[in-house]
Amino acid sequence: MKSQVYFIPADRKESPESLSEKARRAYLAIGLNEKLGENDFLALKIHFGEKHNTGYLKPLWLKGLIGEVEKKTPRAFLTDSNTLYIGHRSNSVDHIRLAWSHGFTPDVVDVPVIIADGLIGRDVQDLKGSHARIKSARIGSAFLNSDALLCLTHVTGHVQIGIGAAIKNMGMGCASRAGKLDQHSVVHPHVSPKQCHNCGICPDYCPEDAIVQAEGHVLIDDKKCVGCGECLVVCKFGAIKMRWDDDSQRLQEKLAEYALTVQSHFKGKVGFINFLIQITKDCDCMARAQRPIVGDIGILASSDPVAVDKAPVDLVIARSAGKDVFRAGYERDWSVQLSYGSKIGLGTMEYRLVELG
Ligand code: SF4
Ligand code: SF4
Repeated sequence: MKSQVYFIPADRKESPESLSEKARRAYLAIGLNEKLGENDFLALKIHFGEKHNTGYLKPLWLKGLIGEVEKKTPRAFLTDSNTLYIGHRSNSVDHIRLAWSHGFTPDVVDVPVIIADGLIGRDVQDLKGSHARIKSARIGSAFLNSDALLCLTHVTGHVQIGIGAAIKNMGMGCASRAGKLDQHSVVHPHVSPKQCHNCGICPDYCPEDAIVQAEGHVLIDDKKCVGCGECLVVCKFGAIKMRWDDDSQRLQEKLAEYALTVQSHFKGKVGFINFLIQITKDCDCMARAQRPIVGDIGILASSDPVAVDKAPVDLVIARSAGKDVFRAGYERDWSVQLSYGSKIGLGTMEYRLVELG
């Protein structure tokens, strides 16, 4: 059976009020609002954009849909989890300050910003999965303590997985630091002896006592390390390195399994809005402004994360005269996350595009 994907053409040259109204209508079309209970906690999952990035979703575009949500529940909040890499989103204080600097303040959006995995990424719960790659998904607590989830996603290209859209926003974005490490790497972090100052800080943070001080530097005991990723962010000298998994297929499969585990948790109270506006080669983790790779297309909404990610690919390729601009970016086969997602029951690539008048 085909999934419905609602579509409204939109362009960033329009006023924020116009884009907000379109996002509101797209949101109402998917029916999640009717499922919200009085006082439900609704997690509005978003990427606030790295410092100096300009492609992130603008807070004014969200005012209309947040207004609708607030008629149902006063307990919606904007949220993301802390990052694995050291930037301006690796702890809650920096992360919230960055969100503020991008305009996500109560006077604009009227909802609080809560970082889902806590001050330093330790507020995590494990969700059992029973998939081929993921047996247990490590998710930021605020997501799992919520009653409903709405993923608000800026669709972009991506250096490792070809496209970053709803599946990535839910699968990677809801994961705690440990969950992100779980997806991005197949081995534990290691220490660069040359960069280590032997300051002794990271052993104090390691929950497993896996870091020991040796002559001139520390070492990680692979047998004890559980891959929580905390040492990566506490080292001020960048001496602890993760080993990125360069296998895009494996990463996309893990991503889809994480997304399915999160989606299943909400038992149907989940929705997805994809913004095809300022579509760039790289995701909003890039700390710089980027030129779009295609003209603006519009806003898509669905309750199916696979369908709502397949439709942008089709629309973008059609707009690019048949050229696959996502694949052209880094020669990554983006289709794995969609086909694998379909296979495991995350959604379907078969969709019916319904243009909202
Ligand atoms: S990843 Fe976690 S468990 Fe492993 S060494 Fe670092 S802090 Fe310790
Ligand atoms: S925090 Fe960094 S510099 Fe300090 S001991 Fe650990 S790895 Fe070495």
